[in-house]
Amino acid sequence: MAMPAQPVPSHPPSLVAMHELHSVRYVASTAAIPLDAPIYVAGHRGLVGSALTRKLQAEGFQNILTPSRHELDLTNAQEVEHFFATRQPKYVFLAAAKVGGILANHHCPADFARDNLLIATHVIHASWKYGVRKLLFLGSSCIYPKFAEQPIREEALMTGALEPTNSAYAVAKIAGIELCKAYRRQHGFASISLMPTNLYGPGDNFHPEHSHVIPGLLRRFHEAKVARKPSVCTWGSGQPRREFLHVDDLADACLFAMRRYDSPEPLNIGCGEDLTIAELVETIRDVVGFKGNIAWDPSKPDGTPRKVLDVSRLQSLGWKPRIKLRAGLEATYDWYCAQAGTTDNREATKSETVGK
Ligand code: GDP
Repeated sequence: MAMPAQPVPSHPPSLVAMHELHSVRYVASTAAIPLDAPIYVAGHRGLVGSALTRKLQAEGFQNILTPSRHELDLTNAQEVEHFFATRQPKYVFLAAAKVGGILANHHCPADFARDNLLIATHVIHASWKYGVRKLLFLGSSCIYPKFAEQPIREEALMTGALEPTNSAYAVAKIAGIELCKAYRRQHGFASISLMPTNLYGPGDNFHPEHSHVIPGLLRRFHEAKVARKPSVCTWGSGQPRREFLHVDDLADACLFAMRRYDSPEPLNIGCGEDLTIAELVETIRDVVGFKGNIAWDPSKPDGTPRKVLDVSRLQSLGWKPRIKLRAGLEATYDWYCAQAGTTDNREATKSETVGK
């Protein structure tokens, strides 16, 4: 029989609140992280890791460790041990993962399972062994059962079958959560797991076919605007509902949780609000300034009808997102234009598209 969850506070002198929610006991603590503490951001080049690094820099942290993949291969146990033994990080944000879209997951499930299992195993073990004060592990909303009740509560974890196309990836992520719980229970190691909802923002993958909906459509609308096409094709029926969070808000939530959350139970990170894909598409068209029509391709999959996280646990701790979807889309579009090296950014093209 599973043991009841017993939170092991990593910062015992500073407990400020204890809540009883959804029958899960969890602890909120406040703990200052010294600005000169060595902080390791694993996966600092990815969407989440790069946002975390920006956030930590903006907060004044001076000792952020971001070894390149060439210097440190997280699937190699010896290299990970050596890194932790020599660099002695005190806080770890584990945002490194092998990620990919539906096709990549479908074709290479062994790679996704193996790499993500090795990364979680090596980093969590070395963190405990070399005296890390606290580790934050990032999961994903795809770890929840395919038919979980909406909004999805943390308790839904491991209560049903997974979406088959990404089950290998999801099982590896679930193993990471269980590792955190196990090291906490056996060794008193302060490790927490966060489950972010659908993310977007600078650093995202803007591939036309293999990206998620926001970067894919920002690009498609942009290219249609530049080429003065009459319409843009979008996928499915437009009826599915999704929740989106800007990655800078996630980074803020991560730092908040690193300071304030200390429990074996995972913590959903989202805004708790969803919208239809059709509403999203209209907003993206407007942000880009495309004046043509929107066409829907019903032969493309809709995916799950609704995906929204229950964020009451997060809200009860006192965190909420700051970036509204519209403003986040505008900032992401500006970043995309700048990064793609086009001068045809949102501001520059306003006059061109008005009155077309
Ligand atoms: P999901 O949340 O795992 O389903 O991931 P996606 O971000 O890929 O898709 C979300 C929804 O947006 C689905 O209903 C898609 O059919 C719809 N969608 C509409 N146009 C596009 C597009 O151009 N790219 C993607 N990826 N999804 C689109």
